[in-house]
Amino acid sequence: MQFCECGTILVPDKQPDGKIQMKCYGCGYIITSSSNSKAFEIKQKIRHSDLEKTVIIEASDEVETMPSATAKCEKCGHNEAVYWQLQTRSSDEASTTFYRCKKCKFTWRDYG
Ligand SMILES: [Zn+2]
Ligand SMILES: [Zn+2]
Repeated sequence: MQFCECGTILVPDKQPDGKIQMKCYGCGYIITSSSNSKAFEIKQKIRHSDLEKTVIIEASDEVETMPSATAKCEKCGHNEAVYWQLQTRSSDEASTTFYRCKKCKFTWRDYG
C-alpha cells in the first residue's frame, strides 16, 4: 500500500487511454505507473478474441465446374484459380471469397 506525502492512501486510477495512475484523492497528487512501476504491479488481462476460424474446403471434383478468376497463387505462381464465396454466420459481415489454385490446389482466402 502506498501513501501520498499528505498521508492519504494512493488509489489506482484508470485513465481513458488505459494507463493506470496512482492518484491521491486528498491533494490530487498523481504518480504515473511508468515513473513508479516498481511500487505497484498491475496485472492486465488481455482477452484475445476468438481465433478466426479458417474454413478449409476439401478438394472435390466440383473444382472444374466452379467459376475461375485471375488470381495469383502464392505458392506456385500460377495465375488461374477457381473461387467461391461463403457467408459468415453474422449476416452483417461481408461474405468471404476463397480462391483455389488450379495448378497446385493451394487454397487461400481473400480479405478484400
Ligand atoms: Zn496527497
Ligand atoms: Zn498454385
